[in-house]
Amino acid sequence: MSGEPHIEHRAAKPPAWRPDWDTYFLKLAMLASERATCPRMHCGCVLVKDNHVLSTGYNGSLPGTPHCYDAGCLVVDNHCVRTNHAEMNAICQAARHGMALAGATAYVTNLPCTACAKALIAVGIIRVVIFSDYHDSLAERFFQESGVKLDRLPMPRAEIHYDLASFSSARPFDEGKN
Ligand SMILES: [Zn+2]
Ligand SMILES: [Zn+2]
Repeated sequence: MSGEPHIEHRAAKPPAWRPDWDTYFLKLAMLASERATCPRMHCGCVLVKDNHVLSTGYNGSLPGTPHCYDAGCLVVDNHCVRTNHAEMNAICQAARHGMALAGATAYVTNLPCTACAKALIAVGIIRVVIFSDYHDSLAERFFQESGVKLDRLPMPRAEIHYDLASFSSARPFDEGKN
């Protein structure tokens, strides 16, 4: 036995499901969408710069106001207007914390609506990554006119891979209690 530092290879290569950066942030956007409060749509948004998460958001009611799931949707012209959209909430959260968004990428579960697309452009987002489309949106047109890159990527697999039992350094909470 020696205490000398040495290299140990447990696997010949990383697991096939290890996500690249784009997939990772899209997956985080999917996770954020789980907090959505409107049954009509679940949307998540993650704002990222230099692979650093600046802000996250999901479509939800304003602070202190009821959720659609509790109070019902507030519908105008077949749109629920009770919530702020995910992109808007991510921008608002960044504003609350004094975060500059110029040069950042927006990872969103779906194509932004026209209003959110304009807000993303105005705060300086330079790239938008999505895995699904959205009805009646002029986002693509505005992105094109403003030079914002739009990338449509495949929807990431929704499961999270975490095999606690297989990690030799991990200790489950209940171990040793008996
Ligand atoms: Zn609603
Ligand atoms: Zn929107």
